[in-house]
Amino acid sequence: MSKQVVAIVGRPNVGKSTLFNALAGENISIVKDTPGVTRDRIYADVTWLNTVFTLIDTGGIEPDSSDIILSQMREQAQIAIDTADVIIFITDVRQGLVDADAKVADMLRRSKKPVVLVVNKVDNFDKMMPDVYEFYNLGIGDPFPISASSRLGIGDMLEEVAKHFKDTTEEEDDRPRVAIVGKPNVGKSSIINKLLGENRVIVSNIAGTTRDAIDTEIVRNGKEYIFIDTAGLRRKSRIKEELERYSIIRTVTAVERADVVVIVIDASEGVTEQDAKIAGIAHERGKGVIIAVNKWDAIEKTDKTIYEHTNKIREVLSYMPYAEMIFISALTGQRLNKLFEMIDMVIENQTLRIQTGVLNEIMAEAVMLQQPPSDKGKRLKLYYMTQVAVKPPTFVIFVNDKELMHFSYTRYIENKVREAFGFKGTPLKFIIRERKDKD
Ligand code: GDP
Ligand code: GDP
Repeated sequence: MSKQVVAIVGRPNVGKSTLFNALAGENISIVKDTPGVTRDRIYADVTWLNTVFTLIDTGGIEPDSSDIILSQMREQAQIAIDTADVIIFITDVRQGLVDADAKVADMLRRSKKPVVLVVNKVDNFDKMMPDVYEFYNLGIGDPFPISASSRLGIGDMLEEVAKHFKDTTEEEDDRPRVAIVGKPNVGKSSIINKLLGENRVIVSNIAGTTRDAIDTEIVRNGKEYIFIDTAGLRRKSRIKEELERYSIIRTVTAVERADVVVIVIDASEGVTEQDAKIAGIAHERGKGVIIAVNKWDAIEKTDKTIYEHTNKIREVLSYMPYAEMIFISALTGQRLNKLFEMIDMVIENQTLRIQTGVLNEIMAEAVMLQQPPSDKGKRLKLYYMTQVAVKPPTFVIFVNDKELMHFSYTRYIENKVREAFGFKGTPLKFIIRERKDKD
């Protein structure tokens, strides 16, 4: 089930970052051990009561003149409309209602997206409530007073946000969802068009949630796939940071909804910094990953070329050794059939379940072959291992002392599990739990 996406929109200085940080806490957007990935706080997972949702801050860099504030806000609001399930529109009680707020409110209202109107900097609810009522004039419903910096009113606000979450179990369908991601011009649209052409199917922009406006259904051998294309919606912005922010937001929301992510890389360029960022998003979300090196037709090749490209890409994206790799051409159609086979295989691996008995045989054998580490005379003991989830396959290992379970030993166990079952194309998650009673 995909997480709901909540986007924050508002003028500069109303407190978007403060609210984002208050909600996200320590869940900094991008995992620390993903190299080549900057830690912009653009998105984060937020846990509230029993729900987890993805929070996006659409606010980019500060505009330096007041006349571009409005155009930037429109841009942000459009991103939110394109990508979010619920929009938090944040205003500032100290500055009061300004013209730009009203214009953005109009735009949000017309989008028909659920909007929660938030009035920030209400540091004293008793004294300042009268100033909040003015925001009813925006015509987008009840204003929710909060103080982001003193964390007041946050609970009521989140309750309102959660009211708008869709019951995704209802609309759940079992068609594989494939996100095609990559920086501009690597050939994402070309791939989708070629797949459509070759499989001669009904192109349908699946209606329903507006967020799905760029989903494409492709039928191959009687089987339906949903392709989530991040190329379809393009923003024109002269500001590089804005474009990058937009690209990241689009990638996060597409990846969130996908079973398998196809990261498209341009063969003639190799892995760039932006490619690595995009790959990092798929990795940390635990999705199945296929690296598709496109424009393979445009490369001069010897018999070593594939080998050299593979090594270079593996080196830069060393945190995802599980990723499958394929060299394709959207232009000639080379290996596009193979891409479908790979997608099927990766999805199968994402949902593979291994019986506990078999897992424990493998664990016992692994422990015999390589003694677990010890520290200050105490040796790590592995008691038991069981698979608790799929998508991605997630295992719990019970041990005597968590501190002794080094990263490298977990990876050793992971390698043994992979040797036995493959799990190609999918990350695996290991959770280490302590169990004292058997010691
Ligand atoms: P952004 O530009 O919308 O991301 O705004 P920031 O989060 O950077 O906040 C702008 C300024 O407003 C900062 O100086 C914050 O400390 C201040 N601020 C944020 N939330 C509150 C609040 O609830 N009360 C008060 N008094 N100040 C706040
Ligand atoms: P997107 O921005 O990632 O959707 O990229 P496009 O699909 O718009 O492609 C960008 C450019 O690369 C276009 O000029 C395409 O014709 C070209 N292109 C895409 N795929 C291939 C390919 O496999 N080989 C070659 N030679 N050019 C390609």
